[in-house]
Amino acid sequence: MQFDVTILGSNGAIAAFDRFPSSQAINYNGHVFIVDCGEGTQFRMNKFGIKRGKLDHIFISHLHGDHYYGLIGLLTSFNLNWREHPLHIYAPEGLEEIVKLQFKYSNTQLKFAIHFHTNDTSKNAVIFEDKNLVVETLPLIHRIPTCGFLFREKKPQRKILPDKIAEYNIPFQLINDIKSGADYTTPEGRVISNAALTTPALPPCSYAYCSDTAYTEQFIDRINGIDLLYHEATFVHEHEFRAAETFHTTTKQAAALAKKAGVKKLLIGHFSARYENLQVLLDECREVFPETYLAIEGSTFAIDSSDQ
Ligand SMILES: [Zn+2]
Ligand SMILES: [Zn+2]
Repeated sequence: MQFDVTILGSNGAIAAFDRFPSSQAINYNGHVFIVDCGEGTQFRMNKFGIKRGKLDHIFISHLHGDHYYGLIGLLTSFNLNWREHPLHIYAPEGLEEIVKLQFKYSNTQLKFAIHFHTNDTSKNAVIFEDKNLVVETLPLIHRIPTCGFLFREKKPQRKILPDKIAEYNIPFQLINDIKSGADYTTPEGRVISNAALTTPALPPCSYAYCSDTAYTEQFIDRINGIDLLYHEATFVHEHEFRAAETFHTTTKQAAALAKKAGVKKLLIGHFSARYENLQVLLDECREVFPETYLAIEGSTFAIDSSDQ
């Protein structure tokens, strides 16, 4: 099972120190999900080996340029490379209009379908679901409509022991029930307990992306105990007033939220251009929440409950 996140960009809005604006690639069992698509995302994907052919879903938190100016370039490259399979884009209202206008005036005929999904950023809602994973929105507080995203693994099934299938000659159609916890009754009426047939599943893993936002606890129940929280920490705590004024968060606020929510690890990013050295941001967070890490571009963080 692979579930991890690779940082493609983690700087704030003003370009600085060769850091790129917000973008992340979430890898889940061979599928790639891009969260935010700041300028240069496609170049960072190439550099860090993110497979474009595995990408079918892009999630945009809000329409400030540092979170989506890389999108039109990525979509254009897909088209030039003869992409055929559909792409789903989840974003606040307005992105569809922006993208279509750009393609209209460049006279671009797309060879693949784009399905736009409009996020209601005012509420928590499931926006994507397949048999293994759920993605839901987390309403954030920012200057324009913004939401974060919670990637939540569904409850994994127990693992059935292959030699037990053979030993009891268990019919194929009962396998799923047994993986879900059922006992097996042999044709002679003997009950074989589930515990004798299976091994326990690992706990489901989860990851939340929260950027950009003023400090808020309004979604704290949704991130309670999750494996990894990415939260913006645009400013050091001394600039708390500036953070509030611009609807951003400070280091100590992000760390306090992580602590209150009981998350296992905190990843901070969306660094202001005023900080060349990020150590001060990390140190401030660790005073409050020791399990804090910098979202450095090119780093990959496991989203894994088994190593905790
Ligand atoms: Zn931003
Ligand atoms: Zn913003």
